[in-house]
Amino acid sequence: MACQPIWTRFCATAKKHNLIIVEDACQGHGATYKGTRTGNLGDAAAFSFYPTKNLGACGDAGMVTTNDEKVAEAVRALRNCGQRVKNVHELPPFNHRMDSMQAAILRVKLPHLDDWLESRRSLAGLYNQLLADTPVVTPVEPQGYRHIYHLYVIRAQDRDGLQAMLKENGIGTAIHYPIPVHQQPFYMKNGQGQGPYPVAEKICSEILSLPMYPGTDRRTS
Ligand SMILES: *Cc1c(COP(=O)(O)O)cnc(C)c1O
Repeated sequence: MACQPIWTRFCATAKKHNLIIVEDACQGHGATYKGTRTGNLGDAAAFSFYPTKNLGACGDAGMVTTNDEKVAEAVRALRNCGQRVKNVHELPPFNHRMDSMQAAILRVKLPHLDDWLESRRSLAGLYNQLLADTPVVTPVEPQGYRHIYHLYVIRAQDRDGLQAMLKENGIGTAIHYPIPVHQQPFYMKNGQGQGPYPVAEKICSEILSLPMYPGTDRRTS
């Protein structure tokens, strides 16, 4: 049997067990699955506008999207000290309001998002082409998906050696992320880090993010 795309499998499992799907779309602005954008694939979604994201504010900001009126109402209250009605705190009193300056900056940047994504996609295409005959593993964009390359992450057996060589040549790289979740001290401390997750651990030792931002181009010198 052909393997179904992972999103289709998630949705089928959620439906079967009566679960809701909350998308972590934090770095997925503009990515699509079968023509539908992230943020509209599940019951609710979270976007981050942290400055380095594909759509970034000048400080911290974020957004929740949903088509469910009840979720929308709860989120509105949760971000504003748990108030549905002014001065009546019904829910846990967190302050997650986006400040107006961040909102203004994001409104100016939003119309450029699609151009920036195209620029990232074109750079990814160039990387794919240039790395095709090398031993490194490049990102895949399966049929039906539109990747927007918040990061361009390759995998290399000798990742540390490759990173050092690139650094010597003036090319900055980064590792997203060096410690798998189950090995984070917080989870280890709580006894949840037990048991090996060999795939996650192996991938963590091989990943390397290459430079990726709109406007990066091929240097012809
Ligand atoms: C950036 C990011 C977050 C965190 O977003 P913040 O705005 O920093 O809270 C969560 N999940 C993913 C996948 C991210 O890329």
